[in-house]
Amino acid sequence: MIIDGKKVSEEIKTNIALEVSKLEIKPCLVVIQIGDDEASNVYVKAKEKACNLVGMNFKHIKFDNNTLESEIIDKIIELNNDKLVNGIIVQLPIDKKYNVEKILNTIDKDKDVDGLTDINCGLLFKEKDGLTPCTPLGIIKLLEYYNIDLESKHVVVVGKSNLVGKPLSMLLLKKGATVTVCHSKTKDLSIHTKNADILIVAVGKKHLITEDMVKDNSVIIDVGINRIDGKLYGDVDFDNIKDKVSYITPVPGGVGPMTVSMLLNNVLINYKKMQ
Ligand code: NAP
Repeated sequence: MIIDGKKVSEEIKTNIALEVSKLEIKPCLVVIQIGDDEASNVYVKAKEKACNLVGMNFKHIKFDNNTLESEIIDKIIELNNDKLVNGIIVQLPIDKKYNVEKILNTIDKDKDVDGLTDINCGLLFKEKDGLTPCTPLGIIKLLEYYNIDLESKHVVVVGKSNLVGKPLSMLLLKKGATVTVCHSKTKDLSIHTKNADILIVAVGKKHLITEDMVKDNSVIIDVGINRIDGKLYGDVDFDNIKDKVSYITPVPGGVGPMTVSMLLNNVLINYKKMQ
């Protein structure tokens, strides 16, 4: 069965739009972009479109790569203090000359709708309430939507980034899964992937996972987005795997749309907390 992330995400957005329509003051998301990265331009546009669709306010603040770090920090502090702003994100990646950790950690933990500040990462680690990164959250929501139980399942996560692999592993542990995390130093990846009841791949390498690397009737979640000659590919060889497994996400149309919906969801949750 193909997991339809687009459909699930549309349903979530419809529910959010309904809630927002009843609010007198609309929730507001601010996206800070530094530089003019082509992929970032596309992602920021997608966020703007999603906000417009559900009736949220959207503000795009774009700095060029000559901007002083202190100017960016000052702007974030100003937004932290603005009661009409419910979520702040810094679109990544940014130029290496900037201290990305310092910039991210300037965001108030309660407005950190990407869940990337040290405080929110720590809260997730300790299974306490905080804001959680949107892609891992979207994956959990997708699995829940399709009634794919996680308790006692062996879940193999390939990739251990702060954005996807690590926070996802924490959410999976919280759900009672037994989690194996693989990365670039893992020896013989297929030994692990072949044992997975649920395999989640977030690497960024086209078709890293081939048919011989997956277990029959397992569940495959492909987070990878690889843009090659204008076409999108996942990390999983979808065409040759789809008939061997019980569930699989396509690229595009799987995890991707869920990320934006979860971002809107985080903004709305925050808005409610701030009232
Ligand atoms: P990242 O920060 O580059 O992390 C990649 C991870 O993959 C690292 O942990 C790396 O290991 C591991 N890795 C690299 N080569 C490997 C190999 N041959 N075998 C096993 N592991 C390997 O990337 P990311 O930000 O997590 O993103 C991963 C992919 O997901 C990208 O394609 C990105 O575009 C996509 N993505 C999609 C969404 C969405 O909404 N659908 C959201 C975020 C990201 P080390 O840590 O050892 O280097």
